[in-house]
Amino acid sequence: MKDGFLIKNVLLPSFSDLRTEKGDVYIEDGRFAEIAPCIDRPCKVVDGKGMLLLPGMADIHTHMVQSLTKGPLDDLNITDWLKKMLKVQWSLSEEEWYYGVLLGCLQSLRYGVTAINEMTYFPCIDAVVQAYVDAGIRASFGISSTNIAENEQTKVLSVEECLRQAEHLYSRWHGKGLLRTTAAPQGRPACTPELMVALKDFARERGLIYHTHMAEGSFETERIRQWTGRGEAEELAHLGVLDENTILAHSIWLSEKEVELLADTKAVVAHCPSTNMKLSDGAPPIAQMRKAGVRMGFGCDGEASSANRDLLREARHGSYLQKVITLDPTVLPAEECYQMLTWEAMEALGYKDLGKIEVGYQADFSLVDPCNLSTTNRRRILNNLLYAGSGEQIRSVYVAGKPVLEDGRFLHHDIGRILEQCEKILSKIEERI
Ligand SMILES: [Zn+2]
Repeated sequence: MKDGFLIKNVLLPSFSDLRTEKGDVYIEDGRFAEIAPCIDRPCKVVDGKGMLLLPGMADIHTHMVQSLTKGPLDDLNITDWLKKMLKVQWSLSEEEWYYGVLLGCLQSLRYGVTAINEMTYFPCIDAVVQAYVDAGIRASFGISSTNIAENEQTKVLSVEECLRQAEHLYSRWHGKGLLRTTAAPQGRPACTPELMVALKDFARERGLIYHTHMAEGSFETERIRQWTGRGEAEELAHLGVLDENTILAHSIWLSEKEVELLADTKAVVAHCPSTNMKLSDGAPPIAQMRKAGVRMGFGCDGEASSANRDLLREARHGSYLQKVITLDPTVLPAEECYQMLTWEAMEALGYKDLGKIEVGYQADFSLVDPCNLSTTNRRRILNNLLYAGSGEQIRSVYVAGKPVLEDGRFLHHDIGRILEQCEKILSKIEERI
């Protein structure tokens, strides 16, 4: 008997029309090895109970430690919000960083997200990486590098020091287990052209993802225009940092010409609608970008700004936001959301064999309970999950063919103990704001 296992009686969704078909799936060596209406093999059998088998999703822009600042920073303007968020972040101990990141990663996994793209900070990086490893999530991560102070809480470093930090991450962790490192300048308003270019050169030489914020605030975007005479996307194109390995969080304040620029360079936009709405950043021209052929995925961003780590909910917010700003209900339909949640986002992170249920693909997936008051009509389960359901309906999650969550329970984590630890930390956070 081989080491594989069979999941029988699941609903397999189609990317083209979101309809599902009943089927069985055989997994071996962490990959989908056979998918058919009925499979019989002499191996371990898991009863899929008629649940929906959803490919692993990727959150392509996030800041995990902000799970510790969800709540106390609600309803602030972005300038106050940023100062207070950073102030708390600099006050965190190594243990607090560990639990903050672990809590964020476990929430993502709970909601079927098996890969994250995270911008983090250097001081407690060992604890941060330990949290990714202990959570068992695929983590792409880079240091949020800055050399222009946007406020009194910004910690600026030289270009050389930022490169040293990126090299430290790369040499220690890139390609180890489920870890990948990135180059992650915070964004042009907080970085000189020298830093933006130096980190892109660093990423290109090593084949890494380059991850940055772009055109999130209108004030900051206007500041770039005053400095350079260019919009923020034009400025990044001028610096030569846009290509298929560049991920741009937000991308709100763009001209039509800049939308074309993003399509031409094949850069990827990380759409973070909850943050954009909650911080009143504005609404990115996602419908125009889709039409122009810009590549994209969703990001929950940090919970201090989005209050959300359920990526399915993020997709719903994104779709509805586009429908209301364009007054066109046909834009960003459920099919496109599904694609942006799964293979399109995985591909943006450089994974060519994740995000689909296909033979040969790595077996990252969730089993979703269709029996829910909100998501009746199993023939339309995926539409209803996206527009009416929630990540809470996910019962089991597998990463590389191994279960992390089974029947709603984490297999390798004492969640009660972790939550108790986090509550102790949270009780001390508000007095530091
Ligand atoms: Zn961000």
